[in-house]
Amino acid sequence: MSDSQTRTRKCWAAPLGDCDKLSREHIISQSIFSHGCGCPLIIEGNHRVPSGQLAESSLAAKILCRKHNSALSPLDAEAGRLSEILLNSAKGQEIGRPGLSGSLIERWALKTLINGLAAGWSDRRKWLPHESIVRSIFGQASLPRGCGLYSVDGDSKDLPNPQDAQVTPYWAKRSETDKHLVGGQVRVHGLRLFVATHDSVVPQIVGQPENPPRVFENDEIRFVYRPAFIAVGALGSNKNGVILRWDSPT
Ligand SMILES: [Zn+2]
Repeated sequence: MSDSQTRTRKCWAAPLGDCDKLSREHIISQSIFSHGCGCPLIIEGNHRVPSGQLAESSLAAKILCRKHNSALSPLDAEAGRLSEILLNSAKGQEIGRPGLSGSLIERWALKTLINGLAAGWSDRRKWLPHESIVRSIFGQASLPRGCGLYSVDGDSKDLPNPQDAQVTPYWAKRSETDKHLVGGQVRVHGLRLFVATHDSVVPQIVGQPENPPRVFENDEIRFVYRPAFIAVGALGSNKNGVILRWDSPT
């Protein structure tokens, strides 16, 4: 699995064929921010955009055509439901144990990671995902064994802001120019998710990945692959959380 780079504007789902006119896609779904949270969007581990809070104008880019953009709206909708649950919990509400589609959340996290790369957040050049990743995001193919969504549990007291959204790509690097994507962290409203895109990262994620962001230095961090339940709210409490349903493998 490899990635390609381009300087031209192109729909990143072009390998699927049948592209329409390019449209502006929000890098991180608007549905995440539609509950009045006023959250800042922070990205880290990127080259082109300095770490820190992003300007509003950077939040959307012409990276998907209209057809492929709208085909992914069920992913945005499910992420919006997750976001609402997290914000209600942050306000101190009892959320119980609502159910969401793990498959849609996984595909959304993957799409969000790819959006940032395709928009050129990570490099001087814009990255286009390999066709196999595109097909996985559109639900047309399975990810390699062990790839996909992981919940990330552990002590989060060092996090700068529990109310933000954050995308951090992970690379396997032979050099600055010779590197390939292995996954990334997507954090929304304090919930940390990791999505693995390359099987080489899978044995590493329970240990120390290459060039880990600060949060991964904590020995208490625990990754769970395609979790059936993610606790939300008070640390160590399993009373409130999200039940994730997983489709059987395609
Ligand atoms: Zn397209």
